Amino acid sequence: MAEMDIHERITQLPAPGWEPLTEGYWEAAGQGKLVVQRCQDCRTHRLPVAWTCYSCQSPNWAWDEVAGTGTVYTFTWADRRAMADWPLYNVSVIELDGTQGEPVRLMTRVVGVDKESLQVGMPVEVTFQPFDEEIAVPLFKPRH
Ligand SMILES: [Zn+2]
Repeated sequence: MAEMDIHERITQLPAPGWEPLTEGYWEAAGQGKLVVQRCQDCRTHRLPVAWTCYSCQSPNWAWDEVAGTGTVYTFTWADRRAMADWPLYNVSVIELDGTQGEPVRLMTRVVGVDKESLQVGMPVEVTFQPFDEEIAVPLFKPRH
């Protein structure tokens, strides 16, 4: 019930930004895969997306599917909501497991939690919220 409600709210928002550098990310999410840019020379992962590697400056990169697990690095609750009729929601930063280089952190939302249960360090896993027929938005839920 709560998930359906979030889906209805998300599809009221503008579509995610669509550009050559992010297209593969949204398409992979639509297929149920969480991908991160990975340097093809030094193997460093990076997010946000960039044309060159922050570590070795190589322009050679590819999307790399990651496990989709991680931990809550930080979060805040949106007590002043973007739309007045929205239910309370959080904006969370998830540090992804299994990446190489500097920690890869993704800004997203943790669903299935409330102000009492969402905690820094909480183990979470990705869940994909369909946006339309082609793309999905990666959200996270508690991992037990
Ligand atoms: Zn590199």
